[in-house]
Amino acid sequence: MYKTYQQQIVEYGMKILNSQHVAGTSGNISARIGDENALAISPSGVPYDVMKPQDVPIVDLSGRLIYGELKPSIEWKMHTRIYQEYPSIRAVIHTHSVYTTALSLIRTPLAGITETLLLIGETIPVAEYANAGSEKLAENVVKALRNSKAVILANHGLVCTAESLESAFKMCEIVERNAKIFTIALSTGKPIHAIPKEEAKAAVKWLKENYGQR
Ligand SMILES: [Zn+2]
Repeated sequence: MYKTYQQQIVEYGMKILNSQHVAGTSGNISARIGDENALAISPSGVPYDVMKPQDVPIVDLSGRLIYGELKPSIEWKMHTRIYQEYPSIRAVIHTHSVYTTALSLIRTPLAGITETLLLIGETIPVAEYANAGSEKLAENVVKALRNSKAVILANHGLVCTAESLESAFKMCEIVERNAKIFTIALSTGKPIHAIPKEEAKAAVKWLKENYGQR
C-alpha cells in the first residue's frame, strides 16, 4: 500500500538530482500518505541514483518508523512539523539550489519579480538560521511558511511545499530560476523593481482564474 509513495520519492529524488537542485545525497523529499498521519520520506544518506522504492521509510507525524528498514532523512523533524501545522500540504521538497542559497547568504528574500513567482508568495522569505536537522530549524520553517508556500533556509537552501510532489518540484524550479534572475540583477548594483503591489494582487487573481486548461 505504500509502494506508490515510495516510488514517487525515488522518482522525484532523481528529478532534483538531474536538475542540479542537489548534489550527492543532499536534500530530502516527502509525501503525505492518503488520510493517514504518515509520510513517505527519503532515507538518510542514500544516493538518489541507487535509491530503491523499498529503501524509502514510512514514518508517522512524530517521526516514528512504521514501515521499512532505513532511517529517515535527518530533516524528518522539519517535514513532520510542516504536515502537523498545515493539513493541506501533501508534499515537501528540500533542495540546496545554488542561486536560492546565494540569496540566503545576504539574507535577502526573493522579491515578487515575475507573475509566476507571485503565485507561490508575494515574496519568498528567508527563515532564520538554525542547524540542519534541528527542532529550531523545523520551527523557523513552519513560521516562515505562513505567508509563502516556499521558504529559503539561511546558509542552507530551499523548501517547497504543495498539494503534490509534481507541484512542489515545479515550485523549486520556479523559485530557483527567479533567484537566478534576481541575483544577476542584484549584481549590477542598481535598484530592483518588483511588480507593484496592486498589480501583483490583480495578476495573481487573474492567473488563478484563467491560467491552464480548466
Ligand atoms: Zn539541507
